[in-house]
Amino acid sequence: MYEKVKVAVRLRPLIEQELLAKDKAICVDSIDNQKKSIIIKKDFEKRQFNFDTIFDPKVTQSQIYNEIARNIVTSAIKGFNGTIFCYGQTGTGKTYTMMGKIDTEEKGIIPRTFEQIFNEIALDDDYSYSVQIGYLHIYMEMLLDLIRPDNSEVKIRESLDHGVFVSGLKWLTVESPSECLKIINQAEKNKVIAFTNLNAHSSRSHSILIIKLDKKLQRQHSKSVTTFNKNYTSKSNLSQDFILGQLNQNINCSVGTLYLVDLAGSERIKKSKVSGDRLNEARSINCSLTALGKCIHALTCTKYTFIPFRDSKLTRILQEALGGNCKTALIINIGPAVKHVEETLSSLTFGMRAM
Ligand code: ADP
Ligand code: MG
Repeated sequence: MYEKVKVAVRLRPLIEQELLAKDKAICVDSIDNQKKSIIIKKDFEKRQFNFDTIFDPKVTQSQIYNEIARNIVTSAIKGFNGTIFCYGQTGTGKTYTMMGKIDTEEKGIIPRTFEQIFNEIALDDDYSYSVQIGYLHIYMEMLLDLIRPDNSEVKIRESLDHGVFVSGLKWLTVESPSECLKIINQAEKNKVIAFTNLNAHSSRSHSILIIKLDKKLQRQHSKSVTTFNKNYTSKSNLSQDFILGQLNQNINCSVGTLYLVDLAGSERIKKSKVSGDRLNEARSINCSLTALGKCIHALTCTKYTFIPFRDSKLTRILQEALGGNCKTALIINIGPAVKHVEETLSSLTFGMRAM
């Protein structure tokens, strides 16, 4: 059973350097929150796009979290998979949305996810939880382990029992939000070193933080809940959520996996302007983002029976997440400047195809 991808647009405000520059022209004509539409003007033409949600520049990080991430994280704790993507041109606020400014009210989805997970599981007396995190980047179809940067064993594998999975990735068991943030901080340092060595910029890679939530029924509760579940399953008017949840669940335990993905910048590079490594980078990003778009589009259209997951490492890694019992949100990050109107139109078009 496939659930529709929720697609949101986040328009960031003009940032300091744009405000300081002479050209402050804006390409956004209007946003209608009732109709959930955004109108972009280019020269004398206007184009309207409709989405599930549109966040204007005034929206706070906490509003974004509550509208986009909170439900997905809650269901991951219940045993569903969940994926949140940020898509857009470099500089439009993907990393700000995903990570934000840690330890301030401007913290983004990732630190808030850690807080929600540990708050919710602390309140659950019936189950015991194990939370593990793995953090990888995909650069030019290479998998980089940010927790153990010297790790050369990371590979994508497939087995009958586990489906498609990343093997060899270093997983760390975590017990508090602050422990998670320490790991993220170290991983960010590892990232800087790794990308300096590669002579590349990390915004040219896809960043995937994976959080695995294993839950087990505490022994003393085992019997009563088993009986409860048996009775419950025998009823015919089960909610869809419950049936979907069963896929990952055996009666007394479940695993929910969250994928928090800050995608590589979607900007098109003019071939005439770059060559060598930068051109190969651009080709590789283009290829994987196109593959992602195709997979999401094919999943939303019932007429497609073939989903091209194999077209890139990104879609391969996310195959289990996107194809199975998963809740998915796609945030399209855009900036307001006229200068980038072509990129903005192209990002909005990508978002529309995912709906
Ligand atoms: P990306 O990851 O898409 O390349 P960043 O997240 O690095 O873009 O954002 C580029 C700049 O814009 C950063 O300085 C960031 O702090 C700022 N920025 C992005 N979105 C917002 C926002 N909603 N409010 C304030 N500043 C923002
Ligand atoms: Mg970024």
